[in-house]
Amino acid sequence: MAANLLNARDMALHACLCAASRPLSAYDLLDARRAAEPRIAPTAIYRSLTKLEKAGLVQRVATLNAWIARPPKLPAEPSVLAICDSCGAVEQVAEAGVIQAVTDAVTRSGFHPNRPVIEVHGHCPRCESETDPTRSAPR
Ligand SMILES: [Zn+2]
Repeated sequence: MAANLLNARDMALHACLCAASRPLSAYDLLDARRAAEPRIAPTAIYRSLTKLEKAGLVQRVATLNAWIARPPKLPAEPSVLAICDSCGAVEQVAEAGVIQAVTDAVTRSGFHPNRPVIEVHGHCPRCESETDPTRSAPR
């Protein structure tokens, strides 16, 4: 399996992403690894991220040019990302029907999708209730 090919650096980067409360860019990860690997190059970070993405352990947030760890309970399929523009939190929603509907729609127009990505920007329930005290977070 692909996960067996992951090395110590890959797993260290995955641990950084698991511990982060927001998406991390490749340069955030580079800074995080500099103490352990002073001579690490950005290309090494990108190589690790590619391996982790293929293993289904991380997901790229295209609109932020950053990465997040995928929760183990989510299947390694495309998911809808809800991105909070206030705190940077990203919620991954396994919503196969939405992805399939968008894929079907573009396919009908003759387009051949190979990597569907749906990212929705807005405010998470916590930030929304802080900015608008008349609203409360859903239970
Ligand atoms: Zn938020």
